[in-house]
Amino acid sequence: MRISLAVIPGDGIGPDIVAQAVRVLDRIGEIYGHDFSYRTLLAGGAAIDRTGVPLPDETLQAAKESDSVLLGAVGGPKWDDVPSHLRPEKALLGLRGGLGLFCNLRPAMLYRQLADACPLRSELVEGGLDVMVVRELTGGIYFGKRGRTDDEAYDTMSYTKGEVERIAVKAFEIAMKRNGRLTSVDKANILETSRLWRATVDEVAKAYPDVTVNHLYVDNAAMQLVRNPKQFDVILTENMFGDILSDEASMITGSIGMLPSASLRSDSFGMYEPIHGSAPDIAGQDKANPLATILSVAMMLRYSFDLKAEADALEMAVDRTLDQGWRTADIFTEGMRLCGTKAMGQAVVDNLE
Ligand code: NAD
Repeated sequence: MRISLAVIPGDGIGPDIVAQAVRVLDRIGEIYGHDFSYRTLLAGGAAIDRTGVPLPDETLQAAKESDSVLLGAVGGPKWDDVPSHLRPEKALLGLRGGLGLFCNLRPAMLYRQLADACPLRSELVEGGLDVMVVRELTGGIYFGKRGRTDDEAYDTMSYTKGEVERIAVKAFEIAMKRNGRLTSVDKANILETSRLWRATVDEVAKAYPDVTVNHLYVDNAAMQLVRNPKQFDVILTENMFGDILSDEASMITGSIGMLPSASLRSDSFGMYEPIHGSAPDIAGQDKANPLATILSVAMMLRYSFDLKAEADALEMAVDRTLDQGWRTADIFTEGMRLCGTKAMGQAVVDNLE
């Protein structure tokens, strides 16, 4: 397969971790006979420094022409004081919006080797944890009409049936490939958008008789996530609820440097990035954990290019690397093998063989 990727290292540890992910991809290309080509693009603070804006037109255009995007992270203290429309994070919103990425996938995986990092009682997560949060990304209150006067402000949450349908279809398709359980989260006792959401999810569900569906109110879902997280397989929810619940689910794993994400649309195109930020405190020091970005590459292989064997092999290589005791400082515990960003990338490459 010939695959052309837009690679956006970004700021802080972005270049460190993306370099390892690209190295892993190259090795997968060699082993499985794929030709990955890369176009490196500017976004975030690095783009502000070079061009004056966080998302240059050229970057968005080149991303559109690629088969998918691999992104590191953007932002850092250097750009904290720039006007809000020029902040590095605007690049992320611009890319998601400009590329039409309405479906955000946030897996929260607790690796058995890192179970001690989980802040919950061990019996609650015995045998590991594997929850997939499917968050609607381009609608809802973050994009609705808003306004402000001296003593009043408002934001509007609105969804069309079509917007709910397309994300629900994505979530059901994913549930089919996982354990066949889908929990749709809303606030249908209060919100009209939630009542449309719930009715639409039930309608879409008819086409997926093998998926078991239940509905939870968002307040209950937030509680259940810490009370009994193993009840969840796929959680489907709207933009703001998903923003909050996906972070909550991530924290249960206790390892921010391990978690990938994908932002998709209806075709195979996607943007893949770790959930963590640019970690300016450890940038350029060979300390960052590259596994979240490497696992984002596994998601890319699986969701954009349907390369299941390659994605499985990569996830297994990460698992084996953890089994061998390799740990960057963020996940290090006594008795393990402390390593840097590059050595961790190398260990994954070695384990691909
Ligand atoms: P952060 O995720 O960058 O860092 C939080 C803590 O986790 C830090 O101590 C950091 O060293 C550590 N950490 C994060 N990723 C790590 C990794 N891969 N390996 C080892 N340790 C890791 O969050 P923050 O400090 O709140 O934000 C720093 C900058 O990143 C800010 O400018 C923020 O706006 C930006 N940010 C960007 C994104 C993104 O690009 N998607 C997301 C969140 C924050």
